[in-house]
Amino acid sequence: MSVCTRCGGKPFYTRKYSGETLCAACFKHSITEKTRRTVSKYGMFGPHDRIAVAVSGGKDSLSLLKVLGELYLPRRNEIVAISVDEGVAGYRDEALEHARAVAEELDVEQVVVSYKDLFGFSLDEALDWKEERSVSSCSFCGVFRRRAIDEAAVRAKATVVATAHNLDDYVQTFVMNLMHGDVARLGWLDPTYVDDSFPVRRVKPFMEIYEEEIALYAFQAGIPFQSVSCPYMHEGLRSEVRDYLNMMEANHPGMKNVLLRSSLDVISRFARSSEKESTPCRSCGRPSSNGLCNVCRMKAVVEEHVNMQRNPRSAGGG
Ligand code: SF4
Ligand code: ZN
Repeated sequence: MSVCTRCGGKPFYTRKYSGETLCAACFKHSITEKTRRTVSKYGMFGPHDRIAVAVSGGKDSLSLLKVLGELYLPRRNEIVAISVDEGVAGYRDEALEHARAVAEELDVEQVVVSYKDLFGFSLDEALDWKEERSVSSCSFCGVFRRRAIDEAAVRAKATVVATAHNLDDYVQTFVMNLMHGDVARLGWLDPTYVDDSFPVRRVKPFMEIYEEEIALYAFQAGIPFQSVSCPYMHEGLRSEVRDYLNMMEANHPGMKNVLLRSSLDVISRFARSSEKESTPCRSCGRPSSNGLCNVCRMKAVVEEHVNMQRNPRSAGGG
């Protein structure tokens, strides 16, 4: 029978890509260590950073909060959990409750912002007219979510925002940018790139860890799983890319790791050439490419539809 490669203990998980077998304790330690190495390699946190962890309440973000709590609270970095309530009846409440429970367990503050407060409408109201949109629900929601995370980070007085994007998310985004012909965006994936359109710097401490391993960490750490999924979940191309990469990984263990390294190599060559030209948005003052940022552009369209739903008679210019 095989044993833990590190301590000879009872086997828990085998990394097919490296052949390493780990017991439960060594597996958990390996996730924390991998995160620490990624943070250190890309200089993600300094000793005085106040770290905002973007916590949706899903397994990845709750695991990130736990791992960063374990690594950085003893070093006296301040950590705050920031969460966004999109306003999806029956879905987000459970996730926010999980986020609150883990934040309380770690004794970290939680700052919650909602679409309703920030933009004047909930996601339920905004997606009432989804059949008329050309973008998927998640791409649409993502524009508002990024802005909401910015707002929460500013309110939390954070100096850096950590998001739970893992290796799978990272390589999927890389491949999708290629498929969309969006080569100019590749440089933005550089882990050392500072995007000036965000008021607070963003980092991805899980970017070198497989999604499967984070799910296993969450399970092992007793992190609660959400029982319902978002009713609007529609990732379009991303789910096809995910399935394809999972199939490639199953047939060729380590393929995603190789793709990550290749992506980082390509991205580093694009980093400087893809600096964004920006002008302030005429509505909110944030950086934009053409004088009106995506959030304000989409918000105006949603407002028109939401107003029409609330007050059908006054709409239509009659
Ligand atoms: Fe928004 Fe998609 Fe997440 Fe639902 S699953 S909250 S639509 S990003
Ligand atoms: Zn704007």
